[in-house]
Amino acid sequence: MSLSPANPALYLHVPFCASRCSYCDFHSRVASAEHYERWFAAVGLHLSALDERHRAPSFSSIYIGGGTPSIVPGTMLSAALARLMPRLAPADVGAFPEATLEANPEDIDEELLAILADGGLTRLSVGVQSLEDTARRRVQRRGSATSTRAGLERIRKRWKGRSSADFIYGLPGQSARGLQEDLSYAADLGFGHLSLYELTIAEDSPLGLRIKRGEERLPEPDEAFEHYAAARELLLSRGYRRYEISNWCLPGQESAHNLNYWRMGDWLALGPSASGNLRQEGGAFLRADNSSDDEAYYADPMASVSEYRIEGSDARFEYLMMGLRCAEGVRREAYRSLFGEPIERCFGAVLSSFPGLIEEDEAGYRPSDRGMDTLNQVLLACLSAKDAKKASA
Ligand code: SF4
Repeated sequence: MSLSPANPALYLHVPFCASRCSYCDFHSRVASAEHYERWFAAVGLHLSALDERHRAPSFSSIYIGGGTPSIVPGTMLSAALARLMPRLAPADVGAFPEATLEANPEDIDEELLAILADGGLTRLSVGVQSLEDTARRRVQRRGSATSTRAGLERIRKRWKGRSSADFIYGLPGQSARGLQEDLSYAADLGFGHLSLYELTIAEDSPLGLRIKRGEERLPEPDEAFEHYAAARELLLSRGYRRYEISNWCLPGQESAHNLNYWRMGDWLALGPSASGNLRQEGGAFLRADNSSDDEAYYADPMASVSEYRIEGSDARFEYLMMGLRCAEGVRREAYRSLFGEPIERCFGAVLSSFPGLIEEDEAGYRPSDRGMDTLNQVLLACLSAKDAKKASA
């Protein structure tokens, strides 16, 4: 699949959820019919404006995320797919033409699956988080384990495309055994891609406030690590490979859209709070942040965008930071062709000072499994090296 600027990826943000999980600080709200209409009109206008500016490119991949895109009214979803899907670039031989929609399993019914299949979508990514009711209740996750399982079974029976499921470890009320059973169940259902995130809580989220007041307690760090270790053992035994810190898949089922993101390729972004990125000559990136203020975005999406360049050692560090999240790491050739210099010029010495965490060969630098778990210490050292270089420039 081409990742050249001629074929940027497209991200469409849906800022709506049916209810809010208590740990989450993603940009989304519980919305009325009027919000949907204003959002739909604004993203349509924004797409037209981007098309004019970038000469209506085909998209190497399309990702409709949120929020919860599966709660968008069916007619609107069909109309969005009718406008976007003809723009999906034909995949290279052997590659998968990837167009993903994020969904809550609760919303999966025959009607939604028909809309997605008829619209040409190729990949479904569902947020499961946990199939333990105690854990779900304690983070106010919509639906029960039973109703979530029913949605997942419908995907197995009716969905012909690829599928991915998200899980969280370190939830209050979760058990290592339960997490293993959840992942095993998803693997049995044929989910070829599984994401496993550590619970992160925004301080001022409802859950963060409950913890501060002593009304809720999270698993201790070693208990959360036990959850992770149990999950890891299960995923490896079922043939999944960790290709990014929080993402596992069966061979060949990596998310092309997310790989483009971690490789800091080109993508355009629609919807409030979403950010686009375009590579620039000389190893810089043009970042375009859509406003997180819904009203500002709906009033004039293009005017709400803040654009800025990331260049020099900042661009190099960001590229390194994203690349080291992935098992493939940072390839020497890719780095050199982007920045016109070897990676060693900025980061060679510091990367080589972490044997066991960062592996080095002719192709480049990549994190070991332990390196992925402790990436922050490597990145902090790289950040210091970057700042020192910037100061001496
Ligand atoms: S975790 Fe997902 S479903 Fe829950 S509030 Fe956040 S975006 Fe919405």
